[in-house]
Amino acid sequence: MSDLAIQARDLSRVFGTFTAVDHITFDVHAGEVFGFLGANGAGKTTAIRMLTGLLAPSGGQATVAGFDVLRHPDEVRRRIGYMSQRFSLYDDLTVGENVTLFGGIYGLTDAEIRDRGHSMLSELALERARDQRVAALPVGWKQKLAFAVALLHRPALIFLDEPTSGVDPITRRQFWEMIYATAAAGTTVFVTTH
Ligand code: ATP
Repeated sequence: MSDLAIQARDLSRVFGTFTAVDHITFDVHAGEVFGFLGANGAGKTTAIRMLTGLLAPSGGQATVAGFDVLRHPDEVRRRIGYMSQRFSLYDDLTVGENVTLFGGIYGLTDAEIRDRGHSMLSELALERARDQRVAALPVGWKQKLAFAVALLHRPALIFLDEPTSGVDPITRRQFWEMIYATAAAGTTVFVTTH
């Protein structure tokens, strides 16, 4: 089996007459932290949506975790985590309820949700915040929780879309430490930033 986590070839997306992603070609190796850089509006989110099987490419091809994103989006989605810019957690639910909800969406059993949720919250030192609404958490904690939740089902790859925008430098440092620890544990990390 190849050690390529992502293979993008001439991947493109147009919206009407506007080209949002213009023939991008790259490889990401398994276990790598791959930084995807671009100014606001450069097309990073559009590229992620194609790589996660949420948006069909207009041209070119991509495989993620060995599956073609256009032909096998379900197989791709089963193997990835995605922390989007905005919609990662439900603000109106508590920390614990978010863990239960996303664990269920990712297909974990009740026992897995309980065990993994427990160790995740204690690693993040968020046990005491279990019954707090996510809206009440500082933005840095929200980001860390969203990241950990996107890893609950132990995906082969995780996509992080501008995970540190709006957080202070210390939290940003901690977040990057989480990213490196995740890669060291074998999960490929695709991270966008400007
Ligand atoms: P940001 O960090 O600001 O989100 P980005 O690099 O992620 O920037 P995209 O969100 O991918 O950029 O958007 C790239 C361009 O494509 C933008 O000009 C945007 O307006 C346009 N675009 C994105 N989605 C659509 C859509 N569904 N219909 C029309 N235009 C779109």
